[in-house]
Amino acid sequence: MNTTVTSVELYPLRIPRDVPYLGPLGEDIQPNPRGYIVRPGNRTVYPIHDQTLLVKAVASDGTVGWGECFGVVAPQVAHTILEELLIPFVIGRCPHDVERIYEDLYDLQRVRGHFGGYALDAIAGLDIALWDLRAKLLGQPVWQLLGGLRHEQLPVYVSGLPGATKAERAALGREWIDRGFSALKYAAVVADEGEVAEIEAIRQEVGPAPKILVDLHWRYTALEAIHLIDRLCEFDLYLAEAPVAPEDQAGQARVARAARTRIGLGEEWRTVHEYLPRLQAGCMDVIQPEMAHTGITGYRRICELAQPFNCQVMPHATINIGIAQAASLHVAATLANFAMHEYQHSIFDRNKRFIRSAMDCKAGYFTLPQGPGLGTEPTEEALSFAVNRN
Ligand code: MG
Repeated sequence: MNTTVTSVELYPLRIPRDVPYLGPLGEDIQPNPRGYIVRPGNRTVYPIHDQTLLVKAVASDGTVGWGECFGVVAPQVAHTILEELLIPFVIGRCPHDVERIYEDLYDLQRVRGHFGGYALDAIAGLDIALWDLRAKLLGQPVWQLLGGLRHEQLPVYVSGLPGATKAERAALGREWIDRGFSALKYAAVVADEGEVAEIEAIRQEVGPAPKILVDLHWRYTALEAIHLIDRLCEFDLYLAEAPVAPEDQAGQARVARAARTRIGLGEEWRTVHEYLPRLQAGCMDVIQPEMAHTGITGYRRICELAQPFNCQVMPHATINIGIAQAASLHVAATLANFAMHEYQHSIFDRNKRFIRSAMDCKAGYFTLPQGPGLGTEPTEEALSFAVNRN
């Protein structure tokens, strides 16, 4: 048990893609010189590449653990926080103290006001790497260290239908259902004829059985969202995600009280401190934590916090090469309140060639990685996409 962390290396990756995440760009949208666009539907910045930040923690016996930070935009920020602040405080620590280390790193910047955002993204990747390292040292899969397996296969919903028109997107939905999937989520931000027309077209294509979810991308006031969700429920909407601004807790609670379907929230929050007041106020039926924001320690604490509120867990899946995805599956597989995992096919399917892992998603289910630790490591090809931070 005298093993210590001897080094931590960082790999900021930028992987080109032909079609930007969420679908083709309109002619009026041009990437800026740094490779970013703004989707006018939610006024949010997106990269035209896949960007992520890998963390490699090495133990004194040579064992290696891998983690992945949220690096969708400006991965240089988490990189600097890790390099300048966090890594020096982890060198020499015992990887079996991973939860204690998470708490110590969180404490470092509390009085500076950094208890969310990029500061937590940096901790997340390091925390995942230390869990991977710890489990490998013990020769066990991460899920084994989290209390035991409940779900060997994890049901998913297909996220995003990246077609240029409503008809194309509805046809894509039908293709996924024909491949054995039973739940789909469409994105308000690219539903150019409106959310109601979009669900009508998808429902017509897929028939009555599949679950249809919508991501409302924080676009509406509470009153607008209540009226919209009512109309979407005419097409048997299964879940409405992120109807109002993330800061608007009163609006979230108001929508959840009025809605005739599930409300899902949480992909942008990182700690129990952000979730707790929303759980207490009844803001959602489903939480959607993002592993690359929370790390394994934070994610598990959030999910356990939600359990006595009878909130289900439908984990979010961001742009990543699969390390964060694997960590998310390991925790989800142990949760009593797990319902479905987001399946970002346009990211997972194209990036899985960059990892060595038995993890896959077929016919409606994610299968878990195998082997000790996360059972998932980047390939040499993945690391060849590492870029300078300038
Ligand atoms: Mg979302």
